[in-house]
Amino acid sequence: MNEVYLSIGTNIGEREKNLQQAVQALMEQSAVQVKRVSSIYETAAVGYTEQADFLNIAVAVESPLMAQELLEVCQSIENELGRVREMRWGPRIIDLDILLYNHENIETESLIIPHPRMYERAFVLVPLQEIAPSDEMIHEKSTRTLQAFNIEQEGVKLWKKVDSVDEFMRFESLNEFK
Ligand code: AMP
Repeated sequence: MNEVYLSIGTNIGEREKNLQQAVQALMEQSAVQVKRVSSIYETAAVGYTEQADFLNIAVAVESPLMAQELLEVCQSIENELGRVREMRWGPRIIDLDILLYNHENIETESLIIPHPRMYERAFVLVPLQEIAPSDEMIHEKSTRTLQAFNIEQEGVKLWKKVDSVDEFMRFESLNEFK
């Protein structure tokens, strides 16, 4: 079984619902088990900054799938939830990235793992650290990076505390819009 960390972000529409729907879509995959979901963080846009703030979470999953197959699952969920790719760094309904796949280094034409920009982004590292407390490699590397950042300046704010996957899925917005 492979241990995988994903990052999910959204800055259009019902952002919390978008995150829940993405996690729900992961749970519906028979080859993916959702183990942990981080708290929800709100972050100012990076890159193209003239756009709405993002909500971001990290998700720990287990899966027998190969990394490339998981990328396809992530992309099919993005498509299912209506993501339209218009601008590289622009607004998005939902974005699923594979951060880590076990502790492997993978580089193909369509996939780079660890995610090439993860250690530059506080909005990825803060939620990731929360759900990977016993992974020393992640912890050490993210702590070192985060110490170099000022989290306030990076604009990463706790938006809603999440203590379990069940609690995350029970938050109101999903039921409202289902
Ligand atoms: P984005 O627009 O940020 O979702 O980038 C998607 C593109 O990044 C896709 O074409 C993927 O093939 C590529 N990619 C490379 N590495 C990764 C990764 N670790 N997770 C997700 N997408 C990746």
